[in-house]
Amino acid sequence: MPFYQYKAKDSSKCCDYCCNGFELLQKPDSEVIKNCPRCGAPVKKLITDFSIGLSKSGLDRKAKEKGFHKLKKLNKGEYEKEY
Ligand SMILES: [Zn+2]
Repeated sequence: MPFYQYKAKDSSKCCDYCCNGFELLQKPDSEVIKNCPRCGAPVKKLITDFSIGLSKSGLDRKAKEKGFHKLKKLNKGEYEKEY
């Protein structure tokens, strides 16, 4: 599960928790939160850092970017090139 990073939109209306940003471990399909769970200040979602919460899709994407190829094992001795 990836981490999502949030930070208060308004630095004058935030608490200790959201002023400097916080991370939430969320399911990829879960709702993006709009308010700080502690003080209710509006928050924005920051770019997810997959190096923190390495999800499978993040790993695949990273491998792709680096030009690695992934082989899917089909049968004994048989491989299918996924990309
Ligand atoms: Zn807050």
